[in-house]
Amino acid sequence: MATTEQVLHMMDHYSARNYLPLPIVIEKAEGVWVEDTGGRRYLDMLSAYSALNHGHRHPKIIQALKEQADKVTLVSRAFHSEALARFVKRLAEFVGKDKILAMNTGAEAVETALKMARRWAYRVKGVKEDRAQIIVCNGNFHGRTLTITSFSTEEAYKQDFGPFTPGFLTIPYGDLDALRAAITPDTAAFLVEPVQGEAGIIVPPPQFLSEAYELCRQQRVLFIADEIQTGFGRTGQKFACDWETVVPDVYILGKALGGGVMPISAVAADEEIMNVFEPGSHGSTFGGNPLACAVSLAALDVLEEERLIERSEELGRYFMKRLTSIKHPDIVSIRGRGLLIGIHLSVPARPYCEALARIGLLCKETHETTIRLAPPLVITEDELDFALSRIEEVFAGQ
Ligand code: PLP
Repeated sequence: MATTEQVLHMMDHYSARNYLPLPIVIEKAEGVWVEDTGGRRYLDMLSAYSALNHGHRHPKIIQALKEQADKVTLVSRAFHSEALARFVKRLAEFVGKDKILAMNTGAEAVETALKMARRWAYRVKGVKEDRAQIIVCNGNFHGRTLTITSFSTEEAYKQDFGPFTPGFLTIPYGDLDALRAAITPDTAAFLVEPVQGEAGIIVPPPQFLSEAYELCRQQRVLFIADEIQTGFGRTGQKFACDWETVVPDVYILGKALGGGVMPISAVAADEEIMNVFEPGSHGSTFGGNPLACAVSLAALDVLEEERLIERSEELGRYFMKRLTSIKHPDIVSIRGRGLLIGIHLSVPARPYCEALARIGLLCKETHETTIRLAPPLVITEDELDFALSRIEEVFAGQ
């Protein structure tokens, strides 16, 4: 078995350097705990950027993986599978939409929603050819494909990747007047994260989502919610839009949809919108593969059986209350919803994350000055207390 040093060396030598991970090599994981190659245990407070809402290797999800792996894993969309049929039915019922389009990664699902919105604009709304506009927000993060990168406002994500895809317009996040001013007869959609994750856990101003939704409805603009990071209980509701009882026209889903085991993403919408796709217009070889679908079905069961959404809300309130009692001059604010919480600092967050890792807590900075805390939703109060004691210790020592 390779040592930590050997793994780091191989990564340095052979892997593209598009990430800057903490120098911890995870060997095993179960529930909220991971173990490195040296046998040290850590509490996982990152959850693979919210993909591990169910914790690591949930037994019911692993069981579903094994059972499906013994039957059939891939049929492509040239044929049908029972697993995909059951998945689209279950997910459509879960989100309350007519139809589901299954893909693999979050970025692919975002691309799917963008293509769908453009077609809807031309074929249903009546926008003239090649004129459709999609409105996005400052600080957005929707993935890393070239089109998504085109409307990022982050210089580091864009530098030397041009030329970019046209047809996008940016407004400040949470600014209803700016949204109103940006909408024209050519506007196809407003694409928004109901809580901005990568931007530093930014909760929109009260009523923004509901008022923006209403504005879109009046102007015949699709309201597309990217719930890839915030969905499936992460913020203490089924979806973060539920905080303002908004039912978007289109949901974009990913991450925890795969139970932390398989990549699977999806777009959910009603028939009038989804029917713009006919055979040949969109697809993916692995999209909706039986293995990922079986895993996702089990993940949805676990979410409900173990009341993970309610747990996230209850434990999130407790966690937030205890965190806000920590006083330190470096802390500017603590914000979030449910178990998606950011400690926003006036100094770089990386040294804090490194110090926390040294005493058994894994988390990661986002946008340089925010410590992102997003434990698996299966975490217990005792385990949250463990995390709090480590966080208090680190702030006491800095
Ligand atoms: N949208 C949001 C809100 C995300 O947080 C992410 C990933 O962090 C994505 C899209 C992209 O998902 P993926 O990395 O699976 O492509």
